[in-house]
Amino acid sequence: MKAGVVKETAPGERRVALVPDAVAKLQAAGIEVLVERGAGEGAWLSDSAYADAGATIVSAAELYRDTDVILTVTKPSADAVGLLRPGQAVIGMLAPLTCPELAAALAAQGVTAISLDRLPRTLTRTQPMDALSSQANVAGYKAALVAAAEFSRFFPLLITAAGTARPAKVLVLGAGVAGLQAIGTARRLGAVVSGYDVRPASKTEVESLGATFIELTAGVSAAGEGGYARELTAEERQAQQDELVAHIARHDVVITTAQVPGRRPPLLVTEDAIKAMAAGSVIVDMGASMLGGNASGSRPGETVVTGNGITIIGADNLPASMPTAASNAYSRNISTLLEYMTADGALAIDTSDEVQAGVVITHDGRVVQEGVAALLAAPPEPAEPEPAEPEPEGGADVDGPAD
Ligand code: NAD
Repeated sequence: MKAGVVKETAPGERRVALVPDAVAKLQAAGIEVLVERGAGEGAWLSDSAYADAGATIVSAAELYRDTDVILTVTKPSADAVGLLRPGQAVIGMLAPLTCPELAAALAAQGVTAISLDRLPRTLTRTQPMDALSSQANVAGYKAALVAAAEFSRFFPLLITAAGTARPAKVLVLGAGVAGLQAIGTARRLGAVVSGYDVRPASKTEVESLGATFIELTAGVSAAGEGGYARELTAEERQAQQDELVAHIARHDVVITTAQVPGRRPPLLVTEDAIKAMAAGSVIVDMGASMLGGNASGSRPGETVVTGNGITIIGADNLPASMPTAASNAYSRNISTLLEYMTADGALAIDTSDEVQAGVVITHDGRVVQEGVAALLAAPPEPAEPEPAEPEPEGGADVDGPAD
């Protein structure tokens, strides 16, 4: 079997699906590795490093023509989809719940689509394949650094001859993998940190990192399936947003990481909350997306300064800003999954296997993953109104968040 490593083409994407260290391991498992010229450049990995590890460096055309499995980080572009052949497989973070039409297109083309972001994450054997966790870990770490870099005061308590600087108060909303890493990193930088999540189980995790857990009197508890949160009802959401205003207002820095799988990120920091914050405060919104994020007025990939002096960073792809760490981890995730699915030198698709039932999205010309098939069969949902945006008076400053 031949596996091909593409050069990512999404704007600002600097990660690569496989690092040279993984090449020999795959070869030992009977998998030959072809690498598109320049694929690792963004992560400081040269073609010669891949060649020295035993890979063959090829053009994009050769890669799509000669390989059985394409390895990617993000969704293939429309151009790349056009290059895929029937019977070929593509493995990556294909976001089939938010982009089911890609799954439909790949099925129609006879391509087997395997998506790491649909991996069942609570099984012991899937831990080394858990790309959502590995990338969230990088993102949470970087979010705290981005916040500290943007904040105009110190994070730690500093006592110097020139006076005492009080520590920054940091609030992390959403205490999953990214949130916990952001909490730990902000704590290591010396900030006084609080955390909040709708899953009650996160309380002990937040506290074990030395942070204070915020409990709302509204008492919203929304543990969903598979360890994830469920989407809140409109009433619950309103109660949560209203009560968070006062908590947000007394913090200098807010890092938001809240996600509900396949849904638009919940709005936690409302326009009222932003208005209540002190000038100079910083919000890093990891949920920022074209559909709206966790913070009102955040824009993916942009930094906005509101009229009352709040900097809102739309940090939508922080792992790409730490491409080497993110690629090293992702490479381990994707190569472990590829080996897991390989038998006798070929990809062995078996959706009766619990892991494969999650990750195999299309096969033999059909969308086989139940959740994605159900989504494609369902009538489209009516569009939700866009959340209100605060006026970016005082000059909206447009900047990449972390590159
Ligand atoms: P995620 O990226 O889906 O969401 C991030 C966090 O946002 C979650 O903690 C979620 O509860 C929270 N959230 C969602 N809606 C919210 C709202 N309205 N208000 C406040 N917070 C909200 O989550 P994740 O980081 O991928 O982790 C999801 C779960 O999977 C966690 O329970 C995590 O511990 C678990 N997990 C388990 C394993 C394992 O068992 N090995 C591995 C990875 C993750």
